[in-house]
Amino acid sequence: MTDQSKGHVAVIGAGIVGICSAAYLQREGFRVTLVDAEEPGTMTSFGNAGAISGHSVTPMALPGIWKRVPGWLFDPLGPLAVRIGYAPKAAPWLMKFMAAAKDYEAQAAALAALYRPVREAYLTLTGDAGADHLLKQTGSVSVYETEAGFSGDAIVRELARRHGHRVEELTGDELRQLEPALGPQFVRAGYYPDGTHCRNPGELCRLLADMVLAAGGAHLRANVVGFETGADGVRALRTADGQSHAFGHYVIAAGAWSHRLSAELGEPFPLESERGYHMVLPHPGFETSRPISFGERKFMCTTMEMGLRLAGTVEFAGLEAAPNWERANKLLRHAGEIFRSVDISEAKPWMGNRPATPDSLPVVGRSKKHRNVAYGFGHGHLGLTGGAITGRHIASLIAGRAPDIDLSPFAIDRYAR
Ligand SMILES: Cc1cc2nc3c(=O)[nH]c(=O)nc-3n(C[C@H](O)[C@H](O)[C@H](O)COP(=O)(O)OP(=O)(O)OC[C@H]3O[C@@H](n4cnc5c(N)ncnc54)[C@H](O)[C@@H]3O)c2cc1C
Repeated sequence: MTDQSKGHVAVIGAGIVGICSAAYLQREGFRVTLVDAEEPGTMTSFGNAGAISGHSVTPMALPGIWKRVPGWLFDPLGPLAVRIGYAPKAAPWLMKFMAAAKDYEAQAAALAALYRPVREAYLTLTGDAGADHLLKQTGSVSVYETEAGFSGDAIVRELARRHGHRVEELTGDELRQLEPALGPQFVRAGYYPDGTHCRNPGELCRLLADMVLAAGGAHLRANVVGFETGADGVRALRTADGQSHAFGHYVIAAGAWSHRLSAELGEPFPLESERGYHMVLPHPGFETSRPISFGERKFMCTTMEMGLRLAGTVEFAGLEAAPNWERANKLLRHAGEIFRSVDISEAKPWMGNRPATPDSLPVVGRSKKHRNVAYGFGHGHLGLTGGAITGRHIASLIAGRAPDIDLSPFAIDRYAR
């Protein structure tokens, strides 16, 4: 390794996690290269619902989850579906997912510690990137059409409160004062006044990536397929076109594809794609003021620069299967039922791969096998929320500082012990 490459970091994956890692690494004085065959921020980080919600501390798997699994197999348009042909492949992950439910309190505590400063972690970067205008702090609401749905999610509000977040419980009328476009069937809501959201996640990525490149960062347009390793750690990455590139440090931030790279490094991790869909309505006829999460229907909507984005649903079908656009169309049917009136013409569909871990905790930390590798992936439903704070931790670790929170719950080897 040359002296020059020692302070040079390869960040593999230019989604929100990789871009923020690169930006924070530059602040630590490192030279960075984003390695990605795609344009920065054009994969999963492009199409999310925009919520930056540090109060979302409840893991996906809660006690009793196993009772719901059979339904996931038999309703391809349900809020959570497993494609029948993919079920054998997803089974080991789903078993771990169900087993994780018993530890939900510890997972919530870990998520709360990691995600407490998410807004500040973005504001450190967005000023210089010219992206402050994309972030709004108008709170968020989870809305319910039944009292049973509202009380069924009491645990979500309770865990948020217990970890220091403000939560208000609203009646249907109070909710409609906040969001007048909603129909009359909503009876209750949980309101999180401190939530932030992004009005254009793709543009946020673009502006942050432009800032990184303007500050001397590079973009190597290539797919990483492997590594050259030695006693002193990783010596080079290998790209699909047969080239090798040497760097001093390597960050694995390749979203739902990250486990392929961690396996190449001898650190396999159970990661699944929870495929999600969105529909953007360019002229719905109204604006909502904050992200709205629909408790029973399990999707969200957020007014963005390009229109109203309806986003959500979970589908297990792997990284290669073609999208099932019927799932996106279902979002349009929901829209027709939940708003007083809505124009769904010219709706634009999209699908993305959430990088999901069984215990809802991302992988954030150093490799256990290679001294010059760090991991930042697996943020599942909260990757926009966690992008900037993860980048801050990664940069701090590579700079040689001890983390300011306990990162052991996020270790790469937690399923290997
Ligand atoms: C419908 C939907 C709604 C969502 N809503 C929210 C929300 O409201 N709030 C929230 O916090 N989160 C939300 N999320 C989750 C969030 O979008 C993701 O967790 C986040 O975008 C993941 O970011 P990432 O950088 O890890 O991955 P990505 O954005 O997918 O980036 C990974 C990058 O790695 C690259 N890559 C992969 N393999 C390689 C390789 N071998 N070599 C080089 N590059 C490689 C890819 O090309 C890609 O550019 C939502 C997700 C979906 C699908």
